[in-house]
Amino acid sequence: MKETKKFKTETKRLLDMMINSIYTHKEIFLRELISNASDAIDKRHYLSLTDTSKACDEYQILIEADRANRTLTITDNGIGMTKEELVSHLGTIAKSGSKEFLEQIQNDKAPEVDIIGQFGVGFYSAFMVAKKIDVFTKSVEDGTAHRFSSEGLESYSIEPVESEVYGTKIVLYLRDNTEEENYDHFLEEYEIKELVKKYSDYVRYPIKTWVTKYDEKPADAKEDDETPTHLELETINSMIPIWKKNKNEVTEEELNNFYKNKFMDYQDPITTIHVNVEGMLTYNALLFIPKKPIYDFGDRNERGLQLYTKGVFILDKCKDLIPEYLRFVKGLVDSADLPLNISREMLQEDRAIKKIATNVEKKILSELARMLKNDREKYEEFFNDYGVNLKYGLYEEYGAKKDSLKDLIILSSLNEDKRITFAEYKEKMKEGQKDIYYAVGKDKDAVLNLPQMDLIKNKEYDVLILKDDVDEFMLQVLAEYDGCHFKSINQGDLGLIDEEESKKIDEMKESKKDLLEAMKQALPECKDIVFSKRLVEAPCCLSTPDGLSFEMERVLSQQNHREMKADRILEINPNHEVFKAMEQAYQKDATSLPKYAKLLYTQALIMEGILPTDPKEFSNTLCELMMLSLNQ
Ligand code: ADP
Repeated sequence: MKETKKFKTETKRLLDMMINSIYTHKEIFLRELISNASDAIDKRHYLSLTDTSKACDEYQILIEADRANRTLTITDNGIGMTKEELVSHLGTIAKSGSKEFLEQIQNDKAPEVDIIGQFGVGFYSAFMVAKKIDVFTKSVEDGTAHRFSSEGLESYSIEPVESEVYGTKIVLYLRDNTEEENYDHFLEEYEIKELVKKYSDYVRYPIKTWVTKYDEKPADAKEDDETPTHLELETINSMIPIWKKNKNEVTEEELNNFYKNKFMDYQDPITTIHVNVEGMLTYNALLFIPKKPIYDFGDRNERGLQLYTKGVFILDKCKDLIPEYLRFVKGLVDSADLPLNISREMLQEDRAIKKIATNVEKKILSELARMLKNDREKYEEFFNDYGVNLKYGLYEEYGAKKDSLKDLIILSSLNEDKRITFAEYKEKMKEGQKDIYYAVGKDKDAVLNLPQMDLIKNKEYDVLILKDDVDEFMLQVLAEYDGCHFKSINQGDLGLIDEEESKKIDEMKESKKDLLEAMKQALPECKDIVFSKRLVEAPCCLSTPDGLSFEMERVLSQQNHREMKADRILEINPNHEVFKAMEQAYQKDATSLPKYAKLLYTQALIMEGILPTDPKEFSNTLCELMMLSLNQ
């Protein structure tokens, strides 16, 4: 019985887009249909590994053009679809790519780039060229056959049909030609061949079409007689997986096209890593770093490389092949050393997979090191988008990867215009400088204005500027680079002043014990109050002991770890006039001290970017003091 069903609203919107499409790349519909066909064959093949009755001797994808009736038919002998699958896969938008595409279209009504190429828009893209589509399909899973038919408007129909063969046949009734667009050329032999070569050359199954062959003219033929022809079914894709070819047999352009086609990107990758390994373990890998993170980048579950064994597709997004911090890398691994029926669970334990994964990781990191050395500009571009991943990689697992990642990190610094590596920092260290200094700040000015920078500025030491949330965590895990310790400008002892001076300050601390004690009483939230060994100009600043810093406290509290608080130490510049005046005031009238101590502390907090907990009290105290000075 024939049933008619309505398309869901969002599917309809996508269909409208396709039907009214103004895009020039309508031709991609063929790539999409072939890729669906190839996926369907993969699925049938996979099923047949455990159930041989589902196997097929000769998988193929057939493209047939009927010029008289203006139809283009794509037939595969893949898994087919059940009735339910027709409804859920073709009647609704199944794929996240299509949804994403829709969203992008809505945000950007007149997209400048051809964004169709960016997303796998799948089956629906056929409506760019077809006014009606019939899908005949017989499911390998339940043996039923159906016809799905739609004109891409409000609804579609589904009815049972008789069919001998498993698989799917898609008949496109081409749209009428218009002045701008000639749809007939999709029926031409050369066009079909061209499109298959361009987009689907590496599809692993033969893509066949009828090709005109010229026969010998009969002996008695006249010169003007046409050469007789016949049609032959010909495989028009090369099928040899590009990754199986030897590295020096493949051009960069071929690799780029393969990448764009396979991973739905419209830009060439930043870099391609082609690995052919033979020996104890034999495998080929093709790895790409996209120019811009592709849309599924943020989703941690989406990571993984495709896994093939002996050229047969096994698994998409195999997580065990790549560590999480490299999840932006797209690509595939083909190994002859794995059984075809390997399951996801078995993969985790498989020694060959573990070895390949270790090698793949090493290859990627050495390619990045090469890029950093030979093409700094490209590396910087890479680092803009992906640097944060490397930083997380370094920080995670208690720094297990720190040795392989530390030389790939670049950070801004006070004295340099471009980001530098730790090695470059070290090379330019000033005489007598023992440590690597860093500060958290959005730019150079912000860091230069920090009171804690007083002494460092005088010494002209360079300071790494940390901008990403993960930076400080990463440095703490790293702890040191090549014998130099990382020191935050507002943590612990910077070791910037000489012993004599240090001693003087310690003595002063002794002699002004009462005052410091009184201040401590007034500021119970301070872990300690000390005379600073890092201030020159500023009256006071905050610091923390080594360990948890203010910046880390902020990051952790965003992650709901509000209990993690950095210890606050108020550092006072004993040579500053304010301190001297405060001391006098204290001697005259000890009760005035708490107010001044709080003011000083609040200022230090503000300079650290921490707002006072009681702004009103702060403001009142300020006003009171203003009145005092104005009335004098
Ligand atoms: P996708 O990008 O997921 O392929 P499509 O809209 O092209 O999105 O197709 C939706 C779903 O319909 C596919 O994921 C697949 O399950 C099914 N499908 C499409 N074409 C075929 C086919 N030729 N054979 C079997 N199933 C198919």
